Amino acid sequence: ASHGETHEFRAEIRKLLDIITHSIYTNREIFLRELVSNASDALDKLRFEQSRGRAVVDPDEALEIRITADKDAGRLTIADTGCGMTRDELVDHLGTIAKSGTEAFMKSVSENKDAASNLIGRFGVGFYSVFMVADQVVVTSRSAAPEAAPARWISDGSGSFTIEDVDGEVSRGTVIEITLKEEAKEYADPARIKDVLRKHSNFIAFPILLDGEKTNTTPALWRESKFSVTPEQYKEFYQFLTYDSDDPLATIHVSVDAPVQFTALLFIPKHGLGPMPMRDQLHHGLDLYVRRVLISKETKELIPEFLGFVRGVVDTEDLPLNISRETLQENVVLRKIQSVLVKQILDKLKAMAKEDPEKYNAFFAAHGQGFKLGYGDYAHREAFAELVRFDSSALAAKDGDDEEAEKVRLTSLADYVTRARDGQKAIYYLSGPSRAALDLNPHLEVFRAKGLEVLYLYEPIDEFIMDSIGTFKDLKLKSAELADAAELDPFEGQPAENKAPELTPEESGSLDDFLKAIKDLLGERITDVRLSTRLTQSPSCLVSPDEHMTSSMQKIIRLMSK
Ligand code: ADP
Ligand code: MG
Repeated sequence: ASHGETHEFRAEIRKLLDIITHSIYTNREIFLRELVSNASDALDKLRFEQSRGRAVVDPDEALEIRITADKDAGRLTIADTGCGMTRDELVDHLGTIAKSGTEAFMKSVSENKDAASNLIGRFGVGFYSVFMVADQVVVTSRSAAPEAAPARWISDGSGSFTIEDVDGEVSRGTVIEITLKEEAKEYADPARIKDVLRKHSNFIAFPILLDGEKTNTTPALWRESKFSVTPEQYKEFYQFLTYDSDDPLATIHVSVDAPVQFTALLFIPKHGLGPMPMRDQLHHGLDLYVRRVLISKETKELIPEFLGFVRGVVDTEDLPLNISRETLQENVVLRKIQSVLVKQILDKLKAMAKEDPEKYNAFFAAHGQGFKLGYGDYAHREAFAELVRFDSSALAAKDGDDEEAEKVRLTSLADYVTRARDGQKAIYYLSGPSRAALDLNPHLEVFRAKGLEVLYLYEPIDEFIMDSIGTFKDLKLKSAELADAAELDPFEGQPAENKAPELTPEESGSLDDFLKAIKDLLGERITDVRLSTRLTQSPSCLVSPDEHMTSSMQKIIRLMSK
């Protein structure tokens, strides 16, 4: 072939390849899932182009994935009739363009090698996984763009790859020829391949032909009636969609006719699926199909950020096939779909909280951090207040009860209200770094003594949530720091031995000099030093001079104004 040139892999991709070829030995079969998923993506792109009337090469070619295997030679070929790649695209996509997930992937691998093969797909470093099993890989591709020439990419997965022109006729799409490593020859055995395809690629929307025979039979599951889908099928589809090896925590399958016609199949994972905290929110979104044609993945317009942990697909008849991705943002149909989905998801969560509080608490422990962003969603504030959870002084583990200590400690505002004392006018809360730190906070002494419950807030966002909810079932949400003696005094219950001594005027007078000395010592750092009968164990505590602002809110504001 003519015009060959050698390129170095980008530095971090070289490192990635080094890990892939030399340290991942478990679950290597997923390389096939990655290549088939790339083939499927390429076919989706091609169909997307066609659906908006763009000219493509070989327009009558069937949209499919063809796998052939030569067991004796230890060779495996995966071909697709998708969008293909030009010479430049081969260079960019398979070796030189930075991939956002690479760094994070390598970090995770260094922490836990066994998890590596599960993470490959999620980090978007899929193609390179072929080097877990390959001695050499040859990618021959012909882009669907009418004027593009075919090109070939060759590499053994070490430092570099070669690109060359291809003489002769090549039809649209990509062919990946793999020479398997000696110890990976099993992947040229059709029975083994069939097995792997069934396990990982059963829901691919295009026919997968293995030596000419179709292997995947499952239609778009979301289009089926929910009465005909088995729990096992839901689970398989969920795992196919997310690469999670666990069951979903909840499944929502709806078919809606008004105000918009659409079908949705949604899942709530048991745990966060992203490698980085909050990744679920950053990459949130659902796969949008129009009449089974994939229009866009991670479609953020279909789901608000605070429900970013939800995964799934939406398929609608009410959008034109040639809708452009750029206009999705202001699309009325999508907005309507989103609003129906939000209601469905919140209803599902409410039902879960009611029927199985422990399961709900597990949900909140896994996804609560993201869910809390919903405090700003005015339209759903009631549902939000019902669904939000906090730790609380009332939930302390009993000493020596390990099982109790293991449990997720969370309470709803509604449960707090049932525990509130007669005449209590507020739901009290206090911010701090941890339960241990809050347990020692002097502000809590009086609450403990009077048997008044205090919610424990650990994250900066929590006080914003409190401000936004404002009042719950006629009780004002109020920081324990800002509670005054007048509202706490009516509550008896302080055990006598812990009671602060009543001071005679003479005694308190004798402390005046002492207070003044402290005030002089601290100078400008404080506004005042006062005598208080509120504390029972600690000698002193800090209170806010501004009766409307808690100390943690002041900290946040100081940080923001820097
Ligand atoms: P990802 O699929 O997450 O983008 P991969 O490493 O699996 O990451 O693939 C890298 C890129 O290579 C893809 O985004 C795509 O542009 C290109 N690519 C890989 N396989 C094919 C294929 N069969 N047809 C067309 N393009 C492909
Ligand atoms: Mg991929």
